Amino acid sequence: MKKPKIGDILIFVLIFGISVGMLLSFQSNDEGAYAVAQIIKDGEVLHSINLDQIDEPVIITMKGKYNNVIVAEEGTIRFDQSDCPDHTCERMGRISRPGQTAVCVPAGVIIKITGSAEDDTDIVIG
Ligand SMILES: [Zn+2]
Repeated sequence: MKKPKIGDILIFVLIFGISVGMLLSFQSNDEGAYAVAQIIKDGEVLHSINLDQIDEPVIITMKGKYNNVIVAEEGTIRFDQSDCPDHTCERMGRISRPGQTAVCVPAGVIIKITGSAEDDTDIVIG
């Protein structure tokens, strides 16, 4: 009987390991493992909140032409109250996933979620 070559076993282990690793990283992405909410006003990031590290609700008041009350809790963030004329921002609801944004146009305030996508490590196969 022909024994499998050690190289074949190594390749199999390598492929198997990569698939398991990819599976695990996809799963952690689904949980939104790493979501940072940026609160931007006039193009400037004024607050940066790691939504996964919130134990108690964080309330941020943005003052300006119109005032916004932004609440971050349980991995989500939202415009809770606003005295802008259209109140569209309040109706946008909670956002939690990287890539999502909520905007209060009259106040010029943007909440943007960024995530772990930038931190992904490339798999190097030697
Ligand atoms: Zn608004």
